[in-house]
Amino acid sequence: MPRKFFLPLLLLLLLLPAFSAQAAAPISLTLDGNDIGYSVYLPDEDFVLLSYSAPEESGKIVLYAQDGLFEGKIGLHYSQAGGKVSVNIENLSNERKLASGTIKVPAEAGYAKPRGKANGKVANLQLQETIEGFSYSFSCAGTDYMVLRVRNKQETASFPVYPQADGTYKGEVALPLTYARALTTVQVLSGKGAVMEEDTVRKGYEAPEAAERQEGRLSGVTVCIDPGHQENGRPVMEPLGPGLQGRTAGTSGMAQGVATMRKESIVVLEIGMVLRDELLRQGANVVMTRTRQDQFLTNQERCQAAEDGNADIMLRLHADTRQSNTKLGFSVYAPFNSDYAKAVADKYEYRAMGELLINAMKTRVGYPLDDKYGFVTLSDQFVGNNWAKMTCFLVEMGYMSTPREDYLLSSPVYQQWLAEGMAQGVYEIAVRRGWAND
Ligand SMILES: [Zn+2]
Repeated sequence: MPRKFFLPLLLLLLLLPAFSAQAAAPISLTLDGNDIGYSVYLPDEDFVLLSYSAPEESGKIVLYAQDGLFEGKIGLHYSQAGGKVSVNIENLSNERKLASGTIKVPAEAGYAKPRGKANGKVANLQLQETIEGFSYSFSCAGTDYMVLRVRNKQETASFPVYPQADGTYKGEVALPLTYARALTTVQVLSGKGAVMEEDTVRKGYEAPEAAERQEGRLSGVTVCIDPGHQENGRPVMEPLGPGLQGRTAGTSGMAQGVATMRKESIVVLEIGMVLRDELLRQGANVVMTRTRQDQFLTNQERCQAAEDGNADIMLRLHADTRQSNTKLGFSVYAPFNSDYAKAVADKYEYRAMGELLINAMKTRVGYPLDDKYGFVTLSDQFVGNNWAKMTCFLVEMGYMSTPREDYLLSSPVYQQWLAEGMAQGVYEIAVRRGWAND
């Protein structure tokens, strides 16, 4: 073989396995009553994004598998029998397609095609949030049916609705794939698909009931959890801190998920609840600064809640945002110059405690213990750290500007990992400070 062909050919042969490993894996799709069963083996993946699409509905679900075997069911509620459903599985980081397939909608699914008059003036469209989704009511005189179309970042659906005896339309719609507090657009369509009226509604949120406190390694330790922000924030000027000059309204705004479109305030509240339960199971007493999205608190009020609860340590939960959409990891901010911070610990001790916390988090989620995945910063810029009379850290738990971490921050599996990592950090700090036994 001439030399000039040999080298490119050799390179090609070396690269071929890399290309074939990236080819889409086979996905098995099966009919299962109203559901579609799926099964796919992706040994290199932990979390993936499954999306499916049928003429009348679509949805996105983040899946986790420890062993690379992703299996489950997709519930179809609105599709008509015989329609085609396509299913795609993507990598969370780079939206690379990992597997895909199509299947026909099961015969039992969906609804019979509606008949009659389905066009008229829509009046008094009212949408109310519910924990499951939303409820609606409207009137449209003289019609036999209308079509409702709902749409958000996680799911879409389109289906006929029928009037009650008095001619008004009323009902409840469940949005099982939609995240709490996500914004949904609801349209009332004529039978021919013309948009007659539209409005938006957020899915409800209700804090889960607290787990029962058990005796454990954190018995006797009190932790204040402070989920940052609230649904609709407003800046308040506050003094920077005791012994510090100036006042500040803090940095404006909060992060928002680049993929999920969720607000930081609801994501950190959800994680706060998971952390609360994990700490309770390990024996700690827990004080929450807020348990609702519409609860407004200044930074000083958050510190006061921790003080009133006799907290030993306060964790202020946040999620970050950057211009880059690839940054991964955490940031831990500790105070060091306020009179209160200095009374808790000097800056070397504060940094050492912060490092226990961030390293426990990195270890739990599987990030290397290097600065690329975040580090501890001593800073006077956070009012809510400066006014804390107890050990206090602001924790940025991930980047909502990075699609992978945006999805992970809303995944119950990953939320639990974060909670376990932070609980481990709290335990190590408690041992170091003598609040708990080794
Ligand atoms: Zn924040």
